[in-house]
Amino acid sequence: MADVVTMDKIVALCKRRGFLFQSSEIYGGLGSAYDYGHYGVLLKTNVKNEWWRAMIGERDDIVALDSAIILHPKVWEASGHLAGFSDPLVQCLGKCKRRWRADHLREAQPEGELKCPECGGDLTEPRHFNLMFRTHVGPVEDEGSEVFLRPETAQGIFLNFKNALQTARKKPPFGIAQVGKSFRNEITPGNFIFRTREFEQMEMEFFVPPDQAQQWYEFWRGARRDWYEQLGIRPDHLRLREHDPDELSHYSSGTADVEYLFPMGWSELEGVANRGDFDLKQHAEHSGEKLEYVDSATGDRYVPHVIEPAAGADRAMLAFMVDAYDEETVEGRERVLLRLHPRLAPVKVAVLPLVNKDGQPELARRIYEELRELMPAEFDTGGSIGKRYRRQDEIGTPWGVTVDHQTLEDETVTLRDRDTLDQSRIAITELSAELRRRLHADWRSPKLGA
Ligand code: ATP
Repeated sequence: MADVVTMDKIVALCKRRGFLFQSSEIYGGLGSAYDYGHYGVLLKTNVKNEWWRAMIGERDDIVALDSAIILHPKVWEASGHLAGFSDPLVQCLGKCKRRWRADHLREAQPEGELKCPECGGDLTEPRHFNLMFRTHVGPVEDEGSEVFLRPETAQGIFLNFKNALQTARKKPPFGIAQVGKSFRNEITPGNFIFRTREFEQMEMEFFVPPDQAQQWYEFWRGARRDWYEQLGIRPDHLRLREHDPDELSHYSSGTADVEYLFPMGWSELEGVANRGDFDLKQHAEHSGEKLEYVDSATGDRYVPHVIEPAAGADRAMLAFMVDAYDEETVEGRERVLLRLHPRLAPVKVAVLPLVNKDGQPELARRIYEELRELMPAEFDTGGSIGKRYRRQDEIGTPWGVTVDHQTLEDETVTLRDRDTLDQSRIAITELSAELRRRLHADWRSPKLGA
């Protein structure tokens, strides 16, 4: 099936249907900052919930954490972020004066002297630009009060390694998972919510005996790729890309990116890294605390190695939307739809009275009130039935229930499927069980064909 999606179409749909808005719009907007509207909140919440399900709902060796965003400034000294969390910044010396990331330009211009992609001008020498946002705690703005907004959630996890070990009664291999906001003063944000300066991460640090690091690295690489596929992304739009040795971060002995084929090309969705014992050792050295595991039975002690799958919630949401976007003509009419996995869909079922009279709205409302106890549902009486279906298709609602004159006679409704457009009659008494069954059934993107 040919792909009709473009980033512009996704941006327009997000605005039209209230998934995302430009931030501070009434003041002219703030570049690369977005506010999530109703359906955007519901969709991103579902993405995060599915991640939590994979981390702690389906496993018993991972615990949850929600650490502070502003941490002790020494954390960033120990982690290496203060010295090294920077991107190579170059500025155009020609007409446009735009700023760029030299490493990104190099990908597009593999040979020779780099030139400004906007106006072809010469560029400055690259300089290291630290991406951390600085601020101050308390009323005095001196060096001693300087703190940073976290550029990743991972460090909060390392700081709590000992707490988790002591309170969660876990021993390696075990993990700590966290979802929360991170901040990076990106040089070139863009591609909608793909790269912003404020975003949400879903990160898990998995602490393992050193001799098991490679095996767990391979496990998490595969498991994380599969997570996206299980939630509906087409397999040929996903790939694992192992980093070359010269690409690896200073702490990493192996990193693979889960990449998605976005409209702008293959781009990182998530990184899975084998971080070795770098982080725990650094924090032990800088804090003076022992950060190790001691086996109480044998007395053996060691510093666990860490495997880290680090994903972005906003970026994942964008990938799910892009992959789900579709357009088709049905009986001479165009429809735009999001073929989202039912578990991700913001609304699972819409209850629609065919006409807004004859007792149909009242009965439909009663059905809706029963269904919303089970799953996110909507009740919609406004406009023609075709218009209401189109609205639900665009937000990715997998099922529609229509109440019509026959419902009043025989207590059956029409159940419409977003993907196949199949409409079947079903007794009201069987509706809940049927929808629950469909929600938990395997789902595969109709774009994959029969
Ligand atoms: P890049 O090289 O693209 O700047 P990165 O390799 O530094 O990204 P990580 O530090 O591995 O990114 O972050 C883990 C995940 O967090 C990324 O795979 C991505 O999903 C998400 N992420 C990172 N930076 C941003 C951002 N600026 N906006 C949105 N999501 C982000």
